[in-house]
Amino acid sequence: MDKEWSEKCKRIHDLLSKETTYKEGTELLIKFRNEMFEQISQIVNGYPVEAFYQMPFANAKGYHSKTLSYSIWHIFRIEDIVAHTLIAGDEQIFVDGGYQKRIGSPIITTGNELQGQDIAAFSKKLDIRALYEYAKEVMLSSDSILSKLEYSQMKKKFTDADKKRLAESGCVSTDENAAWLIDYWCGKDVLGLIKIPFSRHWIMHIEAMRRIKNKLCKNARKGVDPIAYCGFSCNHCFLSEWCGSCRTEYNTCSFATIYDDRKCPNMVCCIEKNIDGCYECTELEDCTKGFYTPDNDGAAAAKAQVMFIRKYGKKAFLAVHDRLHERYDFAKTQEILGQDMYEGLKILENEYSK
Ligand code: SF4
Ligand code: SF4
Repeated sequence: MDKEWSEKCKRIHDLLSKETTYKEGTELLIKFRNEMFEQISQIVNGYPVEAFYQMPFANAKGYHSKTLSYSIWHIFRIEDIVAHTLIAGDEQIFVDGGYQKRIGSPIITTGNELQGQDIAAFSKKLDIRALYEYAKEVMLSSDSILSKLEYSQMKKKFTDADKKRLAESGCVSTDENAAWLIDYWCGKDVLGLIKIPFSRHWIMHIEAMRRIKNKLCKNARKGVDPIAYCGFSCNHCFLSEWCGSCRTEYNTCSFATIYDDRKCPNMVCCIEKNIDGCYECTELEDCTKGFYTPDNDGAAAAKAQVMFIRKYGKKAFLAVHDRLHERYDFAKTQEILGQDMYEGLKILENEYSK
């Protein structure tokens, strides 16, 4: 489990367990949930639709054997059921917001009953944007419930009537892989529920989502030219786990994602000019497009790298970066190369001639 998240979660649980620190714990929990949700947002906003029903670890044991869509569905169906049907005793967001139809889901349950390729088939049916809207609404609604709950309510237990209500809602499948959830939830008090569905359960599934998307990016980049249009080496980029490169549909380059259409101007320009990269362009030195905007800190370093590729080729460029990265990380390398494009080129050439 992510060490930082795990420690944060433990601290929040400790704060929630004492009356004097309970409010602080609630506030921190809401903040922490926002931080974790940010990862879901980046994944939903960053990857193509087909990424959401792939199972790159289909035969593995663990949460990463599922899909991205399933993970989101499962986290927030459970939270919605627990927050509304069990704790608040009111209508679920799923029902209130007409989300079954909007998401296009054939089921209303938590999805625990689905196994193997049924998960992929289920995931393929879901509208990921609608699912994301649902997840966000559930999170905000639970945050509101959390902020109103008092410490005195933490020890509240659940009854057979609660179990009956849950069973009658049809939101938990009677399949043996799912039916246990009702006894599990109702065996806890409110604090116990906050500790799992509202926090630890998120960590486990979001971590699994990170593993899934990292693997999808790695798969997308297989056999793809590791040199980006602007002259970056994807093999050495700090984003290499998150990004499948701008030569694939898995482009989550932090520069491309600032544009509404997520299309980097340098990539668009190269495609329009029908060239392999800016290293084939005669306008490079004076270009101010996209990443080469003069006030962009990385512009000079990128141009230096492109000039090097133009002179010595991609193979030499990757070899030089391998050497530089034995001493410096990505940020430092770019800083060293970025004072001036001609100076940056000289540094690369010196390294090449060693
Ligand atoms: S800045 Fe543009 S061309 Fe360069 S890596 Fe990012 S998306 Fe690709
Ligand atoms: S004009 Fe600029 S962005 Fe376009 S290909 Fe040339 S160097 Fe690249």
